[in-house]
Amino acid sequence: MGSDITNQVQAADDTPQSLWERFRDDCHGYMIDQCIQCGTCSGSCPLAGEMDHGPREVFSLIRDGFFDKALSSSTIWLCVSCYACTARCPREIPVTDIIYGLRQMAVKQGLVSGKARMPHLFRAFARQARTGKKISEARVAFFYGLRFPGDVLPNFPLSLKLLKRKRLEL
Ligand code: SF4
Ligand code: SF4
Repeated sequence: MGSDITNQVQAADDTPQSLWERFRDDCHGYMIDQCIQCGTCSGSCPLAGEMDHGPREVFSLIRDGFFDKALSSSTIWLCVSCYACTARCPREIPVTDIIYGLRQMAVKQGLVSGKARMPHLFRAFARQARTGKKISEARVAFFYGLRFPGDVLPNFPLSLKLLKRKRLEL
């Protein structure tokens, strides 16, 4: 599999091979080999209808050597980490964690469209998570809004009302 991927992934800092190795070793990627393609994960996923590839297909892409397609798939950004797939997988594959790993790699390698919203929301959230303090929705919205103000500004009046009623923390 490694040699196929070597020819397909365009990574910013890593070689394609080292990117694949990190995914395999640090993000449970090696467990994809256990997948029997039963489709239970995709059938359980509430967002599968919106994804370009359900989780089962993403794993199939990776096994067939199309790691770049997995990294650029909408699936990794639409996943809401509900863990339904992980809970129901008959092979006990940590599907959600693997998708999360793909998301991290896509961000790290710059394989993300500048117009895509979810990666920026993810970055804003991760920035808050890294502080080790309680995550402030207002701060996440602020940092996301720096990139996409049109998504945030319409909610400003409502945010002020929530702040006054102490239903929103800064
Ligand atoms: S539920 Fe598990 S075994 Fe079945 S397709 Fe999904 S990852 Fe593979
Ligand atoms: S964790 Fe993500 S991929 Fe799995 S079922 Fe939930 S939304 Fe779908």
